[in-house]
Amino acid sequence: MGPERLSKIMTCERYFNNFRSTFNEDNSAQRTHKINKSSTDSEKEFGKFFHNLIQCYVTNLSQRNLETYTRELLISQNTERWTDKLIHLLSPHYNKKTSDSFLSSGDAENMERSLNTFSELYHHHNLDQFSWECELEIYGFKFDCFSLNGDIDLVGINETEKRIFTIELKKAQKPYPQWKYQLYLYMLMLQEKYEHYTIFGAIWHPGAKLKVVRMDTAKTLIGSIFDGDETNPISYICEDCKVWDCEDRK
Ligand code: SF4
Repeated sequence: MGPERLSKIMTCERYFNNFRSTFNEDNSAQRTHKINKSSTDSEKEFGKFFHNLIQCYVTNLSQRNLETYTRELLISQNTERWTDKLIHLLSPHYNKKTSDSFLSSGDAENMERSLNTFSELYHHHNLDQFSWECELEIYGFKFDCFSLNGDIDLVGINETEKRIFTIELKKAQKPYPQWKYQLYLYMLMLQEKYEHYTIFGAIWHPGAKLKVVRMDTAKTLIGSIFDGDETNPISYICEDCKVWDCEDRK
């Protein structure tokens, strides 16, 4: 389940009950298929490229600098083809590509711009003090009646200072309010796993600065859901809700 649906079922109990009632044996396979098909293949490809590029850049930073990536992306913008070096830089994700494989000039340009922006923030915030892991998986976090698993885009650990910095990467230019539920839950999950560390989190998307969030912010929002304080769903949650007779719709 992605952050959007998770944020909805966490925010409105009525929405959750309606959602759960549609998961009977007859139609659950169909629903799951529909949920997983919410973005087009080209959007998914673009999202994967975006994640792979930033993650490879961060985790290989000691051996490969920004210029190495941008040079190859600039060549791809002109030729609309992958280069051998770019395939190598993003290895093993695109090992099946060859220098004849198509790469749209627009995608290469977007990636080059995104990587440059991300790199500026990375150095501005001295993020090189952390050792980075990508796609860190966390299992079995108990949240109310759910058990959650997380697959976190970037987790930086500073063993000396006992600090952890987690970053969720989003390809969209504009922020979505539901992203924060995902980030905050990941921060709580990390805190459970790394009890004695100070956890920080941030969401980064190409149109944004890196706004750093501390654990108390995450705990306050998730806590307010447990306490039932968060009772007024915001309009994006009501938008595609099937509880047509709901009087609280915004
Ligand atoms: S319309 Fe909005 S408030 Fe009403 S059940 Fe749906 S999500 Fe909740």
